[in-house]
Amino acid sequence: MIKLLDKNVADKIAAGEVIERPVSIIKELMENSIDAGANSIVVDIKNGGKSYIRVTDNGEGISTEEAETAFLRHATGKISSLEDLNAINTLGFRGEALASISAVTRLKMITKREVDSEGSKLVINGGHVMTKEMTGAPNGTTFVIEDVFYNTPARKKFLKTDGAEGNKIIDFVSKFALSYPMISIKLINNNITVFATTGDGNYLNNINNVFPNKDYKNLMEVNYEENGIKVFGYVSNPGQTKTTKQGQIFFVNGRIVDSKVIDKGIKAGYKERIFSGYPICILFITVNSKTIDVNIHPNKKEIRFHDEKEVINAISKGITEVVFKQQSIHEFEMPRIREENVIDYEPMPEFKEILNTEQVDIKNVLKEKKSEIAENIIISAPINRPFDFNELKIAGYILSTYIVVEDTDENTYFIDQHAAHERIFYEKLIGNYLSDEKLSQPILTPIVLETSNAMDGLRDEILNVINKMGFDIGEFGNNSYIIREIPGNMTLNEAENFVNTFIDNVIDGETMDNNVVIDKIITKSCKNAVKGNNKLSEMEQNELLDVLSKCINPFNCPHGRPTFIKLSKYDIEKAFHRR
Ligand code: ADP
Ligand code: MG
Repeated sequence: MIKLLDKNVADKIAAGEVIERPVSIIKELMENSIDAGANSIVVDIKNGGKSYIRVTDNGEGISTEEAETAFLRHATGKISSLEDLNAINTLGFRGEALASISAVTRLKMITKREVDSEGSKLVINGGHVMTKEMTGAPNGTTFVIEDVFYNTPARKKFLKTDGAEGNKIIDFVSKFALSYPMISIKLINNNITVFATTGDGNYLNNINNVFPNKDYKNLMEVNYEENGIKVFGYVSNPGQTKTTKQGQIFFVNGRIVDSKVIDKGIKAGYKERIFSGYPICILFITVNSKTIDVNIHPNKKEIRFHDEKEVINAISKGITEVVFKQQSIHEFEMPRIREENVIDYEPMPEFKEILNTEQVDIKNVLKEKKSEIAENIIISAPINRPFDFNELKIAGYILSTYIVVEDTDENTYFIDQHAAHERIFYEKLIGNYLSDEKLSQPILTPIVLETSNAMDGLRDEILNVINKMGFDIGEFGNNSYIIREIPGNMTLNEAENFVNTFIDNVIDGETMDNNVVIDKIITKSCKNAVKGNNKLSEMEQNELLDVLSKCINPFNCPHGRPTFIKLSKYDIEKAFHRR
């Protein structure tokens, strides 16, 4: 017998399509808040949203007469005719969400419009209106939802742990907040504030509020448009990668998406400068909506671009433009001068990192000087550097560690020889590792190394990696190894130290199976290799500067410490109270 389903049963079935898990409820409620013109939304959850969800907004609210209607299926205040359907500019329009949510939860709604003196409160359990009353309330709407799927145990069983459901919500609300910098969004999880944004409209502030982690502090702005494809967003410099893709978040026409095409654009944009890991890339891409297909299922994030090449091209160029143009130098932070030396000294405010302005065609410089950096990490785009390295004049050498140089604009720089050395080392080793042509020097007396350990089963792999970095290392009996060739520009001592540390670092529990690990070990080992406090002759200082100038990033050591500290004429005059 064919029967019409009871309304309640029908609603529960329909709810399954829209409401898969607590995060789906949050998505619908937040979208409704946006559609209601709210500029402030608070999301408060407990137990991964399973037991408690509260979403409060300051939007237009719902009149007392319409409060109940909003929960009827196909009740929507957003469209009323077929024509409207073609001109939708709201996030929701099907009028299904509230009906679906209320069918599978215990729900309370408090809402008030600005024009009304009183608001209304509605309690609905499993689709049944329990109470409806007038109440005092602030302007806007609050939903409190308890016991998700309490009346559909089969669905409830499919929910993951509180932690896993909670993470899905944090992930969603974070991304939602990223795409609405004009709206202040606060997320509270088990009574702890996860983040709060200000709604001041500034994308970078907004990113920093959502991700307070320091990795997101020094992002660079991408702003590029070609062939009607607009790429805007923030990306990290190539030295600052994460081991997962967590920092890569993409929006196309405001919608969060995953896309292999965007991945390709990023990869192309950074060229060979990413040795390992994933740079942070938060990109807002705008295209003509006729040039994409979006999977219309509310929970899917897939997207298809009609012209993938153009999208890759725009993303790639946008990223290349900033990644290769901006390198930063650290400014001098005026030290506190001891009281016995100066009276009434006012400490300088902290200087910010500056971005460089002068353009140098690095490729030509490198060509002329027959760069020793492996060809495939040589960058092809012009780089902005704050000064021409050739014009730097050595003005002194202090503490057997710092080279003092002047540029032609009356700026003074202190160069930390160890940090510089580490940078040179690092780029050389990585360069060799990535290149087929190694820049090596044979040595007269081979170095024989004794390792305390048999390098376990990894011996061949380790030797292979070391050889790829420009060494010629081979076995020499029991736990002994012989080095016959070392990378160019490395002293015997440094080479020996490096290989020793490298092997130690591997034996300390690393595996050699990917570039992330190898990058990490090289970075770690560089530090040890150049530890000695060796005084440089004037010729050696010049040489260090020369080699440093050919580095891709001469301004930081591989661990992120500065190699250059800048002191401008203004800083000096200020310290002397001349300004
Ligand atoms: P849709 O968003 O597709 O219209 P919903 O079921 O999500 O359908 O919401 C039904 C109606 O309830 C909306 O069209 C809107 O008029 C009203 N509504 C829902 N949430 C809010 C809110 N936070 N503030 C004001 N009105 C709301
Ligand atoms: Mg809706």
